[in-house]
Amino acid sequence: MTGPVHVTAEVLATKTLGAYRHLSLVAPGVGERSRPGSFLAVSVDDGHLGRRAFWIHRVAPMGGHRAVVEIVVEERGPGTRALAALPVGARVDVTGPLGRPFALPRDPARCLLVGEGYAAAALTSLAERLRERGCGVRLVLGGTDDAHLLEPLAARRSVGQVEVAAGDVTAAVLRALPEVDVVYVAAPTATLRFVAGAVAGSETSCQVALERPLTCATGLCQGCPVPVLDDAGDPHVVRACVDGPVFRCGLVDWEALG
Ligand SMILES: Cc1cc2nc3c(=O)[nH]c(=O)nc-3n(C[C@H](O)[C@H](O)[C@H](O)COP(=O)(O)OP(=O)(O)OC[C@H]3O[C@@H](n4cnc5c(N)ncnc54)[C@H](O)[C@@H]3O)c2cc1C
Repeated sequence: MTGPVHVTAEVLATKTLGAYRHLSLVAPGVGERSRPGSFLAVSVDDGHLGRRAFWIHRVAPMGGHRAVVEIVVEERGPGTRALAALPVGARVDVTGPLGRPFALPRDPARCLLVGEGYAAAALTSLAERLRERGCGVRLVLGGTDDAHLLEPLAARRSVGQVEVAAGDVTAAVLRALPEVDVVYVAAPTATLRFVAGAVAGSETSCQVALERPLTCATGLCQGCPVPVLDDAGDPHVVRACVDGPVFRCGLVDWEALG
């Protein structure tokens, strides 16, 4: 099964997770196709045409060919407020899975995952896949405060080594970097930029899940430009939604990204 589907999803369950709202959606075909780093786009009935993007946090089997997809919502504006308020049984239009997912190492490697705020949701299934492949997994989990740390207890249960860093993740990242081969980061752009700078020129391979405001989320509108530098150092512009949102750190032109 490949490619995104567009479905009307039903809210199966909701709960509050610290500062976030957690939604379980019955969205046939979305979870089954999703890979670590995939996101989905929700059409919210609030007068805006743009869809709202959410990392696929977990995919839970439901029996038959159906899977439940879980997302984590931080209320920021009208769209996320409307989603966070949805009751069980509500229906929303969902498109997914979308985007280019994380690339997994071919051989077992020592992996560092850096997840900050709700974006840590993008790393949950990645950690599982890496462990299944025999990789060592270490997680730095950050958030502006304790309420914005995403499920630290669950992370401790599923990941070998977790360092919780409320406030600032940079010191924890710098401590961990010399001991890993591969780094995956899902966090605000400032943290992505910091990690990209910290691994630049080293042998450590690094991928970032880059959030840019998206409109259509399917590549058609060209509204989510990301400046990149190709192997020859020449500048190009690609689309975050289909050429990303996961990028190799070294590909992104961090200076031009602003
Ligand atoms: C690939 C991807 C995955 C995402 N995953 C999650 C997630 O798992 N959980 C979550 O809570 N949020 C996630 N976001 C951010 C979320 O999509 C936006 O916060 C949301 O669209 C804002 O809509 P709004 O109507 O509530 O707020 P608005 O009033 O539209 O915006 C509120 C603030 O969010 C910024 N913003 C708006 N749209 C986006 C956008 N698409 N991406 C980044 N910032 C934006 C605006 O600049 C503004 O500062 C993700 C974004 C992307 C691109």
